[in-house]
Amino acid sequence: MKVRIRIETEFGWGERRLHEIGGLERSSIEASEASLGLSLTEGKSILKEIQRAVLQDQVEEISEVEQVCPTCSTYLPVHDRRPRRVDTLFGRVTVEAPRVRMCMCRFPEFPEFKAAYSPLTRILPENATPELRRLQADLGARHSFREAARLLNELTPCARQNHATIRNRLASVAACLEDGCDEAPKVSDVQSIPTEVT
Ligand SMILES: [Zn+2]
Repeated sequence: MKVRIRIETEFGWGERRLHEIGGLERSSIEASEASLGLSLTEGKSILKEIQRAVLQDQVEEISEVEQVCPTCSTYLPVHDRRPRRVDTLFGRVTVEAPRVRMCMCRFPEFPEFKAAYSPLTRILPENATPELRRLQADLGARHSFREAARLLNELTPCARQNHATIRNRLASVAACLEDGCDEAPKVSDVQSIPTEVT
């Protein structure tokens, strides 16, 4: 038999988008115990593709919402789109992240100033999701760095880990705790810093 895996996104404004995730093929004539259900390798590959589709659609919807100025309801243009790498537990995904023009209605003293910002950067200032960062640090604290990397590589489709990746993550989490900040940093200040555009 053949199995096709598709997912469908329904955006808040009603548009639907279909993503072809992948497919499987199983022989019923020469069936074996190893061919029953999904293998770990197949599961990792499918999760990675789902993550890629979900993240890109999510970035698009978030950016669309942010194009409406919350103060004066002006629909703001997208200045440009830049590739942005996001490390997640389910793989490293490169998304096209729009930068939205800031509405200057909040800065009437600078009518000529133009600025843009990335909604994705505001939400995720680091390159890795909090879930991946937490798991790297947690495994790194319980096992040797090499073993923590091996476990992540074996069980998840995240980007290739090694002892240095784990060591660095644990060090950054420890430094963050020493500074009294949360493990998952908050970035409420980032959005208020306009990035000058040309
Ligand atoms: Zn405005």
